[in-house]
Amino acid sequence: MMTAAKPNTPTLENYWMPFTANRQFKAAPRLLAAADGMYYTTDDGRRVLDGTAGLWCVNAGHGRRRIAEAVERQLSTMDYAPCFNMGHPIAFDFAEKLAAIAPGGPEAQLDRVFFTGSGSESVETALKIAIAYQRAIGQGTRTRIIGREKAYHGVGFGGISVGGLVNNRRVFPQIPADHMRHTLDISRNAFTKGLPEHGAELADDLERLVALHGAETIAAVIVEPMSGSAGVILPAKGYLERLREIATRHGILLIFDEVITGFGRVGTPFATDYFGVVPDIVTTAKGITNGTIPMGAVFTKRAVHDALMTGPENAIELFHGYTYSGHPVACAAGLATLEVYAEENLLTRGGALAETWQETMHALKGLPHIIDIRNIGLVAGIELEPRPGAPGARAYEVFLDCFAKGVLIRATGDVLAISPPLIIEPAQITEIADRVAEALRRVA
Ligand code: PMP
Repeated sequence: MMTAAKPNTPTLENYWMPFTANRQFKAAPRLLAAADGMYYTTDDGRRVLDGTAGLWCVNAGHGRRRIAEAVERQLSTMDYAPCFNMGHPIAFDFAEKLAAIAPGGPEAQLDRVFFTGSGSESVETALKIAIAYQRAIGQGTRTRIIGREKAYHGVGFGGISVGGLVNNRRVFPQIPADHMRHTLDISRNAFTKGLPEHGAELADDLERLVALHGAETIAAVIVEPMSGSAGVILPAKGYLERLREIATRHGILLIFDEVITGFGRVGTPFATDYFGVVPDIVTTAKGITNGTIPMGAVFTKRAVHDALMTGPENAIELFHGYTYSGHPVACAAGLATLEVYAEENLLTRGGALAETWQETMHALKGLPHIIDIRNIGLVAGIELEPRPGAPGARAYEVFLDCFAKGVLIRATGDVLAISPPLIIEPAQITEIADRVAEALRRVA
């Protein structure tokens, strides 16, 4: 039966939605109209607890006045300025503030900051820096990049090439890239709290690819320290250390894609800090502005950066950038975001809540269809047994049920991914778990 359109309901005809089954969505739309703190409000006035921090980005919760005011101030001071051969103070200021909290601390020297407009742009930028660096040090044959099987690195051609999600690249051409195996062996690691015990040896797959292609053809290996969109896959204890060692031994740069894990998600400012493994390049976005204004940043090791600052002084060292690199309004949002994170200790709050989070999520063990529960910081991945012949269907139904009952979670394949704003209170952690439990019983 057709229902009368609400006064403010758009026709849904013109907007081509990303990553969405558009025709299915338009038959049963879900529209979010407002957001405040831990909650969204739907267009028909229902409150929905945000269990995903938007899309892993609204780390300080919604509707932060300080960020809104900073944006407003900047918009009326200077809305935009070009960033080629010309700069604006706020971008330099923001880069300096980011450098002060850069992944790995001062010793890591990951303090050269390149601004982008998104996670995908950060990935493209990082890959280009890696290849340009190799060329600058006389290793121009190193143009291949290694990614991993179950990995998501955004949607640029570089990102889909190194990303291992088949759906993400099936119909598109790719740049030279190859993929390491790293899928977690659930049979050995199921329901492990925190980092899996087994699987560090998966890092040795890089040796296989080095033997196959020759180290002299490989510029870099890119990994998410924790794979988020690919289904919350955690590295086994020792895995990243081993990867670092192998990469270093073969002159291969190590890139951490911290678009999700950056800015407090795993309980430390960056996953680099959590694991104590220092990569050469780190990509970020999302939480950098609390999700408010699109922005990303690539942290590059001083030595990598400096190798490119050679040649004639009037030559452009890296022919790369975006109209919106270091956008003044995004920088204003980012600076205010860092202030909020610092004042409320949000970059480590996930660590303080991690134990409660872990115990609450693992208490779901035993509910129908759950074959694994994984956690780190304020992230949980609850893996469901796929329904025969319909991969992903069960998790999607759980997502729909939770949403109908007032909690937003995410279904990625057969994994329920949960990653709330870092301001979450323990009672809200319980609420998320309760809704998921009820949904699982209903879907069963
Ligand atoms: N890298 C990783 C690890 C991501 O999770 C994402 C987005 N979820 C991206 C890159 C792409 O970011 P964006 O959607 O901002 O382009």
